[in-house]
Amino acid sequence: MPAYKRILIKLSGEALMGDDSFGINRATMVRMVREVHEVTQLGCEVAVVIGGGNIFRGVAGGSVGMDRATADYMGMLATVMNSLALADTMRQEGMTARVMSAIAIEQVVEPYVRPKALQYLEEGKVVVFAAGTGNPFFTTDTAAALRGAEIGAEVVLKATKVDGVYTADPKKDPSATRYTNITFDEAIIKNLQVMDATAFALCRDQKLPIKVFSIFKSGALKRVVLGEDEGTLVHV
Ligand code: UDP
Repeated sequence: MPAYKRILIKLSGEALMGDDSFGINRATMVRMVREVHEVTQLGCEVAVVIGGGNIFRGVAGGSVGMDRATADYMGMLATVMNSLALADTMRQEGMTARVMSAIAIEQVVEPYVRPKALQYLEEGKVVVFAAGTGNPFFTTDTAAALRGAEIGAEVVLKATKVDGVYTADPKKDPSATRYTNITFDEAIIKNLQVMDATAFALCRDQKLPIKVFSIFKSGALKRVVLGEDEGTLVHV
């Protein structure tokens, strides 16, 4: 039995690169999609927000020196590309997926309409939310918190390279240990980076827990959904 009925998974764009330096690594994408497929087969309703950092970021790389809002719109369009690729892979893997965009590009994807998204989820379709929040100066972490709250997800699952929140950076400090559970307040006091500040504040206000886990650890997503000891739960 899954511990959650409805979840929102936040995947970073960078996770799609695999070992490549740019873009989408096909094998990595297929592997990730299979992990998501497993949890849908448990009967869990799944929504996904995907980032765009593997293609374009509003505050780094090729955007340096650009008008920030313009660069951010480019970043949001990058998330649309990732969302299309993700949904396409999902279909190839036998899943039913729908992409909904926060920015109107109706020839490409349908617009985000909350009741429609809820309907798809109830029908067991995976909903991929594209174009972040639709607003510059935000991130896809914030889109994940926002959509998670809107659809009544029980948890936001933040997929990272590290398998949870640690007492210190485990790459730099070998004695660092993983928190199993931590409150929002403790995370603030200890200055632990969980999600960006806007996303974190929104989840905290809405009492929407965040589970940090590694998407690169085989089976971790399934263990999270089954309520097993995996990753770190940030809660009220
Ligand atoms: N972005 C934005 N508003 C949003 C979400 C994203 O302007 O609501 C832009 C922003 O420029 C960001 C880029 O899209 O740098 C890609 O998103 P993000 O950096 O969150 O992707 P990730 O780090 O998860 O790959």
